[in-house]
Amino acid sequence: MVRPQPADLGGLSDKRMNHSLELTVMMYHYVRDRGDEAEAGSGIPGMSVQAFEAQLDELSRQHTFVTWPEVRMALQAAKPLPSSACLLTFDDGVRDHYFNAFKILHKRNLSGLFFVLNRCESKGFILAHKIHFLLAKLGFVGLREAIWEKLDPDQRTRFTQAERHYQLKYPPISMDKRINLLKAVLQRELSSEVNTLLSDLFEMHVGSENEIARSYYLNTDQIQEMAAGGMHFGGHSHSHPWFDWIDAEARAVEIKASADWIEQFEPGPWAFAYPYGGLSEDSPQILKEHGFMAAFTTQTQLRHSDPYFIGRLDGEEMAQDGQGYA
Ligand SMILES: [Zn+2]
Repeated sequence: MVRPQPADLGGLSDKRMNHSLELTVMMYHYVRDRGDEAEAGSGIPGMSVQAFEAQLDELSRQHTFVTWPEVRMALQAAKPLPSSACLLTFDDGVRDHYFNAFKILHKRNLSGLFFVLNRCESKGFILAHKIHFLLAKLGFVGLREAIWEKLDPDQRTRFTQAERHYQLKYPPISMDKRINLLKAVLQRELSSEVNTLLSDLFEMHVGSENEIARSYYLNTDQIQEMAAGGMHFGGHSHSHPWFDWIDAEARAVEIKASADWIEQFEPGPWAFAYPYGGLSEDSPQILKEHGFMAAFTTQTQLRHSDPYFIGRLDGEEMAQDGQGYA
C-alpha cells in the first residue's frame, strides 16, 4: 500500500478547517462481561455488552451513524456529513473489539473506527494494561504497597512529590480519583522505571506477560477479518505514552510505528487517537508528515474546528452516569 504524501491529505492547507465539523464521536475501551472471552477471568471491568447494545439503541434513535471514510470525505470537504452524524471509535486494539464490539456492529450493519496499538506478538503489555491486571488482582492499596516496597529512596521521593502534584487534578475524594492519581504518577513521572517493576509484579501475581499479551491485543488475522467486515483502523502509537510527557523525537517514533502498522490494513490518509488524550503542539505536524489527516482527543466536544483535535464522548462513563444523548 502506498503511503499517502502530505500533499495528498485533502484541502487542509492550514490546520484549521474553514467550517467547523459537527460530529458526535463516541469512544469505547473494554466491552466485556465477566467470564466472557474478552474478560477471561482477569477481573478487569469494562462496559457490559448489554450496556453497549443499549447505548447503540439510544444513539441510533438520535443520530445517523457514519463511517470513518465518510468523516474523511467531510474533512476533505468533498461531501458533508448528514445532520446528527455519529462515529463510533474504540481505543487500544484489545480483543474485546473482536469478540464483542465487532460482532455487535456487524450484526447491526454498522462500522467502527478502531485505534490499534502496533503490538506485534511477544512485546508484552503497555503500562496501562499491566496496571489494569494488577489492580484487579491486588486492589488499589495492595498495588500501591507492592510498588512502594520496590522503590529506592530517590524514587520514593519523586513518587511522593508527583502524588502531591496530581492531588490538585485528582483530589483523593473517591476511590476512582485515588486510582487515577496513582496511574498518573506511574504513567508519567515514573513511567520508564516502573515498566520493568510492573512486569515483575505481573509475572508474580498474574502469569506470563508475553503469553497473556499475545491473545490480549488484536492479531493480524482478527484485524483482517474485521476490515473485511467493514471495520476501519487508525493509529494509537506503539507504547502508549503521554504525548505531553515524551519529547518530539519520541513522538515521531511512536507515530511512525503506527503508520507502519496500519498501512497493512487501512488505506490512508489515516486517523489517530492520542494515547490517554495527551496533547502536544507539534503532534499535528508530525502526524501529517506520516500520513495521518485527523486525530481524536478525549476532550468532550461535539463541534470541531481542527481536524487534529476532534473531541469525543466516553460511552462507558456516560452509561455509568445514566446520561442521555441530546
Ligand atoms: Zn489508549
